[in-house]
Amino acid sequence: MNIAVVGAGASGIYYSLLQKERHPEDSITIFEKEQKPGRKILATGNGHCNLLNASIKPEDFNDPSFVKYALDKYPYQYLESVFCKWGIPLLKKDELVYPLSYSAKNYLNQLLRLLDDRDVKLSLGTTITSYKKKKDGYYLNDKGPFDKVVFGTGGASSPKLGSDGEIFNEIADHGYDIEPLVPGLCPFILKEKVKTISGQRHKASVSLVINGKNVYQEEGEVLFKDDGISGIVIFNIESKFAREYKDRNDAKLRVDFFPEYSEEDLLKLIKESAKVSKEYMLGFISLEMINYLLPKSGKQSPEYWAHALKNIVFTIKDVYDFASSQVTVGGIHLKNLTSCLESKTEKGVYFIGESLNIDGICGGFNLSWALLSALLASE
Ligand SMILES: Cc1cc2nc3c(=O)[nH]c(=O)nc-3n(C[C@H](O)[C@H](O)[C@H](O)COP(=O)(O)OP(=O)(O)OC[C@H]3O[C@@H](n4cnc5c(N)ncnc54)[C@H](O)[C@@H]3O)c2cc1C
Repeated sequence: MNIAVVGAGASGIYYSLLQKERHPEDSITIFEKEQKPGRKILATGNGHCNLLNASIKPEDFNDPSFVKYALDKYPYQYLESVFCKWGIPLLKKDELVYPLSYSAKNYLNQLLRLLDDRDVKLSLGTTITSYKKKKDGYYLNDKGPFDKVVFGTGGASSPKLGSDGEIFNEIADHGYDIEPLVPGLCPFILKEKVKTISGQRHKASVSLVINGKNVYQEEGEVLFKDDGISGIVIFNIESKFAREYKDRNDAKLRVDFFPEYSEEDLLKLIKESAKVSKEYMLGFISLEMINYLLPKSGKQSPEYWAHALKNIVFTIKDVYDFASSQVTVGGIHLKNLTSCLESKTEKGVYFIGESLNIDGICGGFNLSWALLSALLASE
C-alpha cells in the first residue's frame, strides 16, 4: 500500500512507525510544510517532553466516551510498551512520564532515526493545500497516487511551530463538520489592571465562576502577567472555558491563596503574626500583592485579610491567542469518522492527533492522544 501522511508532528510520526510495524511492506511518505520535522515536540514539557501520563483516564479529555473506547483497547501499560518496543526508556516523575534522557531533542532524534530505519520517506518544506480522489487513488496537490491519506496536521496552536489550521478550509470543502477552532491551554486576559503584580506567583485554588456558580475548580500555581493570569491550573480552566463558556461575558475567576486553611483558621494564623509584627501580612504574601489587595476604603484588619486572601475575584476579558496556546479546542468531528478514525465518506482518508475535536488537559495527555489516535488509525 502506498500511504501519504500529512504532518510530521507527534501523531504523524507515531502513525508512520506503527503502520510500518504492522505492515512493513507499505510505502509511507510524510509531507511536512516546515523545513524540519517535529518542531512542536521540541517545545513540549519545557524541552523535556512529557509524553504520557501514568494516571490517564477518559475524564482528562473533552470527549471521555471516545477516549474510553481508545483506552479500553490501549490502556496505559500498552502505551508504555510501545516506547519499550521502540527502545525508548521512560522516566516517571509522579504520574508525569518523560523519555529517560529527559530531553525532547534526544527524543525527537530517536523517533527520526526509527523513521529512517523503517524507510519512511520525509518530504520537508511541502505544504499540502488540496487533495482529491482520482481513478487510481488520492492526489495531494499534484502528488500521487496514494491508497491511503492520513492527516496529522494538528490544530492552529503555536503556529510558529508549524500547525496553522489552514488545511481545515480544504477539509471543510470535502464536507467534514468542523467544531470551530479556539485557543486552548492558554492564559486569560483579565479586566482588572494587574500590571503591578505581574511576575508574582502563588499556589492557589482557582474556581471558574459563571453566573455566580462555581463550575470548575483546580489547584496549582498561578502566575500574573502584565494583563492577565497564567499557570498550568489556569491553562486547564481556560480549555474548559473555551469549550463551554467562551461567549459569556460574566465569567470570573475566584482565587483562594490558602485552600489548605479555612477562613477561620487563616484568621487565627494572621492574628498570631499581627501580635509580633506591624508588617504581619508579609509572612503570607508579597509586598506587591499586599499593595494590590489593600482595601479601597476603610481599615485593614486580620479579618479583612483572611477573607481577601481566600476570595480574590478577577473578571475574564478574553483568552490569549493561538500563539500562546498549547492545544486547539475544536477540530474535525468524530461523527464523520469510524472508530478507526477513517472517514465515513472518503474511504482511505484518516484523521489523527490534534486535528480532531479531542483535547486533553496539561500533563502529557495531548501527546498520549497523538499516540492513541495513531494506534487506532494503524489497526
Ligand atoms: C509549548 C507547548 C508545549 C506542550 N507540551 C506538551 C507536553 O509536555 N505534553 C503533551 O502531552 N502535550 C504538550 N503539548 C501539546 C502537544 O504538543 C500537541 O497536542 C501534539 O504535539 C499534537 O501533535 P499533532 O501531531 O497532532 O500536531 P502537531 O504537533 O501540531 O503537528 C502537525 C504537523 O503538521 C504540519 N502541517 C500542518 N499543516 C500542514 C500542511 N497543510 N501540509 C504539510 N504539513 C502540515 C505542521 O507543520 C506540524 O509539523 C504542548 C504544546 C505546546 C505548543
